[in-house]
Formats: sequence, C-alpha cells, structure tokens
Amino acid sequence: MTRLILATRNAGKITELRSILADAGLPHELVGADAYPDVKETGVTFAENALLKAHALARATGLPAVADDSGLCVDVLGGAPGIFSARWAGRHGDDKANLDLLLAQLSDIDAAHRGASFACAAALALPDGTERVVEGRLNGTLRHTPAGTNGFGYDPILQPEGETRTCAELTPAEKNAISHRGKAFRALVPVVRELLG
Ligand code: IMP
Repeated sequence: MTRLILATRNAGKITELRSILADAGLPHELVGADAYPDVKETGVTFAENALLKAHALARATGLPAVADDSGLCVDVLGGAPGIFSARWAGRHGDDKANLDLLLAQLSDIDAAHRGASFACAAALALPDGTERVVEGRLNGTLRHTPAGTNGFGYDPILQPEGETRTCAELTPAEKNAISHRGKAFRALVPVVRELLG
C-alpha cells in the first residue's frame, strides 16, 4: 500500500483527508508529519506555497507528500488578507488580533459589499519532483460581529452563501462538507488516483 504524508500537525486535517481518501475507495495510508521542514513561504499564491511545502516534505521523507495553504480573501480588500491571513495583525497565528483588525478595517462597509471567501490550495508532490495542485473555495459574506465558538481563525465572521449561521456555528462535519479545504482535498482524489494508482 502506498503511504502518503500530509504536512500538518493538525489532527483534524489528517482525519478529514483520510476519510475523503477512504470514501473514494483509495487504499493509500495517510500519515501526518509530526516534524516537517520549516519552509519559507516565499510564494505569492496559495498554490505556490502549498507546492513549496509539499516538495520540501517529499524530498525530506522520500514519500508522496500533500500540503495545503489557505486563507481568507475579502472582495473589498482586493483579495487580502489572502496569503497573509495567518499574520494579518503582525504576529503569526494570533487569530483574535487578525479577526479584530479585519473587522475594524471593514467597520464602515455595509452588508452589500462584504463578500469574501475562504480559499485553499492542496498540493501533491512526489519525491521525483512530479507535482499537482488543486483549489477549493467557500464563498460567503462577512458579519459585523463574531458569532459561534467552533472552528478557528476567521470562522466566527464568515457566513457561507445560503447559510444563516457563521462557519463557527456549523458542526465540524457541516463545515467539512462545504469548506474550501474539503473541496480542495476532494479534488485531490483523482490526482492521487492518476499519480499513485
Ligand atoms: P493555514 O493555511 O491552515 O495555515 O491557514 C492560514 C490562515 O488562514 C489561518 O491562520 C486562518 O487565519 C485562515 N484560515 C484558513 N482556513 C480557515 C478556516 O477554515 N476558517 C477560518 N480561518 C481560516
């Protein structure tokens, strides 16, 4: 059985991709990389950064490697924070500061102009340098005030199209079914089948 390694320490991402591969009938064993190369994310798109991480992990482990890169793209900000989503307020991974800054920036913008989407690129790289990258998006609008306690990052302010709740008010299963990451991981299935059989 081919082993596939995922560049994440996030158990939720591993479970999600594992179940997507299993649902598709793919026999590959997915393992999480506890330690993976510290890659400088020098890319200017989600796809470039996902590929950089996947190649580094494939080179380091000799295994086919998957990596994802994601963020929030706000229409009125021309797609920002985008690749800078995790450090929009200056410090990497400070979810509350990032969310508070974004809400302050958009405070005068009314509902009609608060379109935004979560975007995710998922890359597969083989040790021989072969690469593929796919993308998924979750479109919605941004609330003026956060709601909900599930999820992470900008979940409390993104209300998906057709929903009355924010992402942070959805259950993990409900969010995975429509999320940018779920869509990107599902789009990887034919790619895994093509490259790894
Ligand atoms: P990463 O690619 O998983 O490191 O995510 C980058 C950043 O984008 C996170 O720190 C969050 O700020 C934001 N982000 C990505 N995906 C989501 C999501 O599903 N919900 C909320 N925020 C997200």
